Amino acid sequence: MAVDATLPYDEQNIFAKILRGEIPNRTVYEDDFALAFHDINPQAPTHVLVIPKGAYVCWDDFSAKATEAEIAGFVRAVGKVARDLGLVAPGYRLLANTGTDSHQEVPHLHVHLFAGQPLGPMLVR
Ligand code: 5GP
Repeated sequence: MAVDATLPYDEQNIFAKILRGEIPNRTVYEDDFALAFHDINPQAPTHVLVIPKGAYVCWDDFSAKATEAEIAGFVRAVGKVARDLGLVAPGYRLLANTGTDSHQEVPHLHVHLFAGQPLGPMLVR
């Protein structure tokens, strides 16, 4: 079910549990600001989720409230993950669903990183 991105942060969301180590994940990259792991239900040959370590519901929450260090750290981590996976030359797509109309399902900010084949049009028509 899509989440209301204006609600307060829910400490019991699935990505909070992953960050606390309560649920396993296939980690691709981790540093002080971000964790990257394979999506459990991949929509492309490469489908990695990158999440900030801080408790932010969505892009809106993060962009409004995160510190400069958190924002810089997270953005750099997304770029590094793509670079380390060799995705810059073939290309990749980033996506951050935010709120109901976007169909965000997990209320902890995550950037989807899709790659590994031509990705087609941006949105279903
Ligand atoms: P959203 O629709 O919120 O942008 O995307 C949520 C994503 O999280 C989906 O692509 C879904 O497959 C993924 N996901 C949901 N639960 C888990 C989980 O427990 N582990 C992993 N690795 N991915 C998950």
